[in-house]
Amino acid sequence: MTYRSILAVVMLGVATQAPAQSPTEPTAALLIELLRVNTTNPPGNEAGIANLLAPRFKALGFDVDVVQTPDPGKAHFIARLRGTGAKRPVLIAAHADVVGVEREKWTVDPFAGVVKDGYVFGRGAIDFKGGMAVFARAAMMLAERKVPLDRDVIFLAEADEENGRYSTSWLATDHWDKIDAEFALNEGGWIITDAKGKVRYVSISTADKVAVPIILTAKGTSTHSSMPRPDNAIFALSRAMAKLSTYETPVNLTPATRRFFQTLAKTSQPPMSGYFADLVSGDPERVRRGDREISKDPLLHALVRTTLAPVLMNAGFRGNVIPGSAEATINARFIPGQNPADLVREMTRVVGDPSVEIRLSNPGAGESVTPPSSENTDLYRALEKAARQQYSADVTPYLFQAGTDAGTWRSRGIPVYGIYPYAISADDLTRMHGNDERVSMEALRQGTEMIFRTLVDVAGKH
Ligand SMILES: [Zn+2]
Repeated sequence: MTYRSILAVVMLGVATQAPAQSPTEPTAALLIELLRVNTTNPPGNEAGIANLLAPRFKALGFDVDVVQTPDPGKAHFIARLRGTGAKRPVLIAAHADVVGVEREKWTVDPFAGVVKDGYVFGRGAIDFKGGMAVFARAAMMLAERKVPLDRDVIFLAEADEENGRYSTSWLATDHWDKIDAEFALNEGGWIITDAKGKVRYVSISTADKVAVPIILTAKGTSTHSSMPRPDNAIFALSRAMAKLSTYETPVNLTPATRRFFQTLAKTSQPPMSGYFADLVSGDPERVRRGDREISKDPLLHALVRTTLAPVLMNAGFRGNVIPGSAEATINARFIPGQNPADLVREMTRVVGDPSVEIRLSNPGAGESVTPPSSENTDLYRALEKAARQQYSADVTPYLFQAGTDAGTWRSRGIPVYGIYPYAISADDLTRMHGNDERVSMEALRQGTEMIFRTLVDVAGKH
């Protein structure tokens, strides 16, 4: 079958699927089942997802592999659909674990797979069981429709992405051959809708920001609290932290971020469109103005610079002792390409106090910062094309503001592209890692169509 006729069959098949609002829509139905397996990490219990998925993939002719970790309830799940081997495999990866919930703040049971108003509710609906359902269904459809493949398609459900030690970097150490690929899809970019639900733009992440802990240690005299001295470690640390609270790192745009803001300038309303244009203008005065305005949004603020977030403080051990030291941990999130040691030097200058030492918690951190994945690959082009077709919207590369498991592949030179494969509003986005997390069933259906088309394009024989 030619590529064109495969696509014709594909379109026909998609068009005759059940209506979106029906809970029998296969991606939503699978998501509901995935949500009902509580994989809050810790402990994770990702083996429950492997048990759910293994028979489904096996029945469709996938080679199925469950990689047990030393932790009994924890496993990675791999399903491989064989192609001719003419090209190297494409991998689609989704983490199976989720973060915990504040149960009393949810209006529905987060682990029941509740369907309401056209949405599926539950912890992981967005991050990332929704994506797992989309990726799994898209791969299953290749088998169901017997699409001839020139390369293997590997579906991976990962353990320990949110937390824990048996993550994909553990998996890669002893089982690299099972997850080696030419390129991969993962979580990352967004399909963002406006207030009316129309897709404004699609972003595909080609790099992740890199988290590096920085430690501040203030030294003073340990002594009896009845005779305080000027060299109090807690005061010194507090002064240093106060100085850093008003310090802002400079704007640092990667080529992907630049394109992302150019897209926003094109797809936004004034005055924001003007501020986005300012940011990429190259004129220092305009960049400052653009930065000031767009940085009122914490996400955009995080995209244009390395950020500093104090996360831990540790000082003192009893009420009548002045401690000899006080320590704070700052979680710095770096723009790829920036050297963490340079930032430590700059922070030391800003603090300007020899009694406060600033250092990287791991001196080697930052040398491992991997470059962004190239946009010049068959997978990027296929996803870009499928996204444009699906949503009639602009598609842009993107620097993902948080971390993902992509580093396991990127650090080995394998391109990884990230997308949360469902249209989503800014409001629904705040529910991720928050309360009443949800994803629309229609968005799941469209996302599955997009990923399926991407896989046919990149792995189908043509
Ligand atoms: Zn995630």
